[in-house]
Amino acid sequence: MLPVYDHIVIGVGSMGSSACYHLSKRGASVLGLEQFGICHERGAHGGETRIIRKAYFEHPDYIPLLERAYENWREIELVSNEKIYHETGIFYAGPKQHALLEQIKESARLYQIPLKGSFNGDHHAYRDQFTLPTDFEWMLEPFAGFLLTEKAIRSYVAAARKHNATIRENEKVLRWESNRDGVRVVTDKAEYQGKQLIFTAGPWSARLLNLPPEQLKITRQVLLWTRPLDPVPFSEQHFPCWLIVDHDKPGGYYGFPVHHWGSEQTAGGFKLAYHYPGDATDPEKVDRTIRTSDTDHLIDFQERFLPGTKGQVLATKTCLYSNSQDEHFVIDRLKGDLDRVTVAWGFSGHGFKFVSVVGEILADLSMFGKTDLPIGFLNADRFKK
Ligand SMILES: Cc1cc2nc3c(=O)[nH]c(=O)nc-3n(C[C@H](O)[C@H](O)[C@H](O)COP(=O)(O)OP(=O)(O)OC[C@H]3O[C@@H](n4cnc5c(N)ncnc54)[C@H](O)[C@@H]3O)c2cc1C
Repeated sequence: MLPVYDHIVIGVGSMGSSACYHLSKRGASVLGLEQFGICHERGAHGGETRIIRKAYFEHPDYIPLLERAYENWREIELVSNEKIYHETGIFYAGPKQHALLEQIKESARLYQIPLKGSFNGDHHAYRDQFTLPTDFEWMLEPFAGFLLTEKAIRSYVAAARKHNATIRENEKVLRWESNRDGVRVVTDKAEYQGKQLIFTAGPWSARLLNLPPEQLKITRQVLLWTRPLDPVPFSEQHFPCWLIVDHDKPGGYYGFPVHHWGSEQTAGGFKLAYHYPGDATDPEKVDRTIRTSDTDHLIDFQERFLPGTKGQVLATKTCLYSNSQDEHFVIDRLKGDLDRVTVAWGFSGHGFKFVSVVGEILADLSMFGKTDLPIGFLNADRFKK
């Protein structure tokens, strides 16, 4: 007899860890399968920190989900007794009337999200740190900040285990099938039977779900940490998260205050990166070598906008974006013969802040086939021709 679970979760990274928690908390029997250890740097959650913000320029429809995400982050902090969310605010700047800044204002207006800005004639507190061109405007969203990825994932896994979830590490799913009677999952170590299946395999989703290549593009992203000569003005007590856009480049540069937790390598470092899909790659064959062509533009950016943060390079890392065709998430329960399967993929470089709510949504979909949270715009059918 094969072991039988109510729900099998494939991939216990960002979204999968939260799904295992939300399901097991409700008393379901859960098996989570992770091909590596809990928390690793080969997928989408490496690099220690992620920004969370609410005046969502990607689309205002995400904002109700974000409201719930903030509540759920508080819940897991209480359950785990860990500080995961650091509220530093986020500082945005760019040329006046840049489309992305206009989208932030519009989202803030629609959902009454507090926003200070040069449009109100306010002064900002970071004059000594940022060098902004005179034609730039700025905004500060105070109820924003960053999340510690490893603490978040480990907290969810520990809490799920307390609720009797079985989380198996270093066990790779090779095949799966779903039929009227249930689901069967074959790994490199064993075989399991389940009633429902959830896919949270991040950059590996295309292969497991047989997605056409145009639907999910995996890209290589580079992170840089430098050691400022004087870190104090850039520390969490004095400096926010930030995002700066310009007309000469799509996407934007972003970063975090100097921090002292992290690994030995990055402690005391100022982390920055470029938010725009990088070179396409295969998650099994990522080129992890960092070249000057990867970091020169980041250092040039520092020179121009944040000269005080330049200094010795402490660390560089690669991480993967899983970009859907429209850069919006896909969260859905499949139909027809696959109606025992729930999927979450295509988080397109902006998913981590939603981890706490996506787990709840996946638990709803897998248990009841529906959720009260407004996810209609993230349906899987929108790419069907
Ligand atoms: C550089 C960078 C910066 C980012 N910045 C932000 C930010 O500031 N704010 C924000 O909100 N988001 C940000 N994101 C996006 C966010 O981190 C991702 O959207 C999120 O981590 C995606 O989670 P996931 O669960 O889909 O993938 P992952 O966390 O990678 O989890 C997938 C898991 O599935 C496992 N798996 C895959 N295949 C199998 C298999 N066959 N068998 C068993 N296990 C398997 C993998 O090993 C992995 O652990 C950023 C991403 C990157 C790369």
